[in-house]
Amino acid sequence: KTFEELGVSEEIRRAITELGFESPMPVQEEVIPYLLGNRNDVIALAQTGTGKTAAFGIPVLQRIDTRCRDTQALVLSPTRELCLQIADDLKDFSKYMGGVNIVPVYGGTSIENQVRALRHGAQVIVATPGRLIDLKNRGVAKLGGVGNVVLDEADEMLNMGFSDSINEIFESLPENRNTLLFSATMSREVEKIAKSYLRDHKEIVV
Ligand code: AMP
Repeated sequence: KTFEELGVSEEIRRAITELGFESPMPVQEEVIPYLLGNRNDVIALAQTGTGKTAAFGIPVLQRIDTRCRDTQALVLSPTRELCLQIADDLKDFSKYMGGVNIVPVYGGTSIENQVRALRHGAQVIVATPGRLIDLKNRGVAKLGGVGNVVLDEADEMLNMGFSDSINEIFESLPENRNTLLFSATMSREVEKIAKSYLRDHKEIVV
C-alpha cells in the first residue's frame, strides 16, 4: 500500500517524501488507517527502528485543527533525548501543514524557557511525565483539550518510576480522547495502564 491509500494527507505526504519515505513500514500500515478511521485506541508492541514515531505521529498531526491554538495532542516519553527526537520528527512531518506548534518539555533543565514556549502556544506537547506535571501545576500546560494522547516507550517510563505521574496526568485528560500506547514489551505494569486508560483497543505486534 501507499501512504495515500492509508489516508495520509497531501501536506504530510509531501513532507515524508522529502524525508525519503517511499512506502509505509508494517506498523504504519496497521496504525495509520486505524487511527484515521473511526476506531481509536491502540496498543502497539514495537521496538525502536520499526517506524513507530511516524505510525503515531502522522495520524496525530493529521487530526490537529491548525486554526485552534489549544493543546490538542500530548506525547509522553521517558527521556529528554526521546522527547527532542519525537518533537523534531513531528516538526518534519508537519512542515507543510501551515505551522503546527510542537513543544518539547523535559526535566533536568531550566523550566523558564519551557513556560515561555507553552504560553506562546503548543498544539502538540511532547513531554517527560515529571516536568509536565510541574508545568500543569503552574497552570501553564493546559490538558483539557487533549484529544489524542500517546504513551511512547511505556514500559521504559514505568521502569523509570513514572507510574504515579502518568496516573496524575490521565486525571487531567478529557474522557473523550484517543489513547495510543507504544511499548517494546508487555509487562504487568503496562497491562495495568492499558486496562485503566484504554477502551476496546486494537493490539498490534510488529
Ligand atoms: P523509529 O522507529 O520511529 O525510531 O524510526 C526509525 C527510522 O526509520 C527513522 O529514522 C525514520 O525516519 C525511518 N522511517 C520511518 N518510517 C519510514 C518509512 N516509511 N520509510 C523509510 N524510512 C522510514
